[in-house]
Amino acid sequence: MTDAPGILYETPAPHVARIVLNRPESRNAQDTSLLYALNDAFDQAARDGDVKVIILAAAGPHFSSGHDLREGGTIAEQMAPFDPVGTWCGFGCAGAEGRMAREKEVYLGLSERWRNIPKPTIAQVQGKCIAGGLMLAWPCDLIVAADDAAFCDNTVGMGVAGVEYFAHPWEMGPRKAKELLFTADWLGAEEARALGMVNQVVPSAQLSEYTLALAIRIAAKPMFALRMAKEAVNAAEDAQGRVGAMQTAFALHQLAHSHNMQVHGMPVDPGGLQVRRKT
Ligand code: ZN
Repeated sequence: MTDAPGILYETPAPHVARIVLNRPESRNAQDTSLLYALNDAFDQAARDGDVKVIILAAAGPHFSSGHDLREGGTIAEQMAPFDPVGTWCGFGCAGAEGRMAREKEVYLGLSERWRNIPKPTIAQVQGKCIAGGLMLAWPCDLIVAADDAAFCDNTVGMGVAGVEYFAHPWEMGPRKAKELLFTADWLGAEEARALGMVNQVVPSAQLSEYTLALAIRIAAKPMFALRMAKEAVNAAEDAQGRVGAMQTAFALHQLAHSHNMQVHGMPVDPGGLQVRRKT
């Protein structure tokens, strides 16, 4: 694969692929193009029989600032250049129908797709990881964080109850999930590790080296056993109702967008956008 705009694809060690978000000038904000380029890179690594472990890293001081709110055009125009990976479609439909189709495809759909890649994946997170950024890190099996990493979901202030891939209760437990959502306070790397959301916290300067060494150690294990171990843990989460709960949260998220369209004429509460621009 040649590097797509915004994405680097590297093979830093035998059996290890490293996908790098490479829009540091926008703090790796996610527009539709970046999400599909990332999906293509994940697909390549998943389908390459020589790759056993996939690292998702990010260039620059911050992992991801979330959705790129500056992306222009209608929903249909945003989606037109890309081949959808799901079957819901109808991106040109009016009202809630078109928006729900897009978010089901590029947010919930892609994140769930990456979560189910049958190979170990490791997110390598430094700096800020905000809202939509969580939907890139959380689907990975392991998260290694630099000691300067901090996580935040500030969407409640924008009139929306959490990002589209609503894994919060599974990632940090229900009580902390509510605090994160209600306050939009930063969750630091060490606290995230204590909650089980992050596996390891390492000094910033050692983040890449540590993550690669971890990937190499995992890649020494038999591939089929790794696949089955991942599938077994994922199945345990799903047996606890994860999929149904996330579908409910997604439906509420779409209700919030529709409410905001009716009240504010835009899919989010503009009051929350002002706050976000200041932070
Ligand atoms: Zn949304």
